[in-house]
Amino acid sequence: MKMKSKSMKVVVGLLLATLILSASSYAEDVEKYDVHDKGRKNPPVITPPKQVGQPPSDAIVLFDGSKDTLDSQWVSERKEGGNVPWKIENGYMEVTPKGGGIRTKKEFGNCQLHVEWRTPEDIDPKITDQKRCNSGVFLMDRYEVQVLDSYTDDNYKTNRTYADGQASALYGQHPPIVNACRKPGEWQIYDISFLKPLFDEDGKLIRKARITVMLNGVVVHNNLEIEGTTHHKRKASYQPHEKGHIRLQDHGNPIRFRNIWIRELPEQPYLIK
Ligand code: MG
Repeated sequence: MKMKSKSMKVVVGLLLATLILSASSYAEDVEKYDVHDKGRKNPPVITPPKQVGQPPSDAIVLFDGSKDTLDSQWVSERKEGGNVPWKIENGYMEVTPKGGGIRTKKEFGNCQLHVEWRTPEDIDPKITDQKRCNSGVFLMDRYEVQVLDSYTDDNYKTNRTYADGQASALYGQHPPIVNACRKPGEWQIYDISFLKPLFDEDGKLIRKARITVMLNGVVVHNNLEIEGTTHHKRKASYQPHEKGHIRLQDHGNPIRFRNIWIRELPEQPYLIK
């Protein structure tokens, strides 16, 4: 996709200039300060949560179980847009039949994202493969971390599907390192750290996106390079973009979500080569 206008080029150019300046200031910092230099500025103070999994003080709470957060932070992806039609009950929201996907109103880039999700307890055994409790968490509108029933033990009829489409896979690209899924009906937790891709003023990719994913406290992707936009049955590839929404997918299954929050993270220019 070509950059659409001169103004877009200017925006990207300015961003790159900022990044380069930041990169040089990082390099200058290394020169400027001695080891353990007491003149060096300490980072901002935030209040950590009392319990792991709860939002720290600098997080944006995207969904806390209330209709307030649902209406103020999310919109329907259906053509007519508007408020989210999903069911909301007992602190969670649930994909409703033909409700359509939803996305945040705000766009994000580099971030830390916490999402809890749950598949139904009793699932018809005849429903299998990608039809079995499918949803997904998308970063920047386009990079999907898969939601599916992939629980496995000796007493449970495992849902067979392709490896790069099971729960916590980076869909269509990379299976998780391990399968750390809980049983259907139990809440599962994604903690995601995401570094956005960078493009030059001509839209050429200069840094792939990177993602670290923990499922239920277990690292399943460790600083993984993302190959591009998630596609079905098609190799991923990049199209230039700046920021994007967090999206939750409606794949026709009643998946529940709760306790969603995000922290915007600064650029780390020393990663630019
Ligand atoms: Mg999906």
